[in-house]
Amino acid sequence: MDKPTRRIFLKDLGAATAGLSVASDSAPASQVPGRPQSGVAESKVFTPTSIMAIAAHPGDAFFTMGAAVALQIHLGARGVFVSLSLGEKGSVKIAPAEYGSLQREAAERAGRILRAQVAFLDYRDGEIPVSDEAKFAVCDLIREYKPDIIVTHWRGSWHKDHQACYAIVNDAVFYAGLPALARKLPAHATRSLYFADNWEDAEGYTPDTYLEITPVFEPWAKACAAFPMWRGETGFRYNDYYGSLAVSRGCLSGNKYAVALMSPPEQRTRRVQTL
Ligand SMILES: [Zn+2]
Repeated sequence: MDKPTRRIFLKDLGAATAGLSVASDSAPASQVPGRPQSGVAESKVFTPTSIMAIAAHPGDAFFTMGAAVALQIHLGARGVFVSLSLGEKGSVKIAPAEYGSLQREAAERAGRILRAQVAFLDYRDGEIPVSDEAKFAVCDLIREYKPDIIVTHWRGSWHKDHQACYAIVNDAVFYAGLPALARKLPAHATRSLYFADNWEDAEGYTPDTYLEITPVFEPWAKACAAFPMWRGETGFRYNDYYGSLAVSRGCLSGNKYAVALMSPPEQRTRRVQTL
């Protein structure tokens, strides 16, 4: 999709950034001598905005997008986790059918911990297609849940399912906001889109938004622990990595814990009357 086209369907960009960027009373980011101050909250005014995480696999949804969802719920908004597949091929020890059931149960348990809704599409792990059928399926979920904000994968991933999810979501946002595109439910324009900080999607990832997650760090970590893979049982130490990343991003933004997010280039444009 070209930028001007998508931009039409992302409304009120400036307000959306303020909505997710929670104003904080904590100290600003540590000042490094010679380096300009950065990362100070732009606004003390925020409105809790509903949020949808859309991931290729349930673990991605909760580990990399879950803290942002938890925070919006904590602030009084609705949150929903969408997984395009169950990630059922993610274990070398457990057969896909059984592991898929475990993944679904873990996601539902994690959703209950965070008071979030959970939805699944039934694409096969490793085989998520970049098709209009998939884009319309996600479009229909966006029209059903009406999120103000969507968080998804960045395209710079080594994992084909993550790349597919990025492509699907970008076009699904477009389809969902197109009034003339007749589906079962009326159009819904998403206000803003963010890409999550995922170790598998690191190529060209440049965060521009830091969201303090201190109030929800503990429940978020508890929700992630519903997944056996969180504890490193599939080979990668997700708990150590994402727990430490929350500390690291917190250091950079002057908070105890934070997550970093990346906006699409056109969403970074600010409209101001004075500098
Ligand atoms: Zn994944």
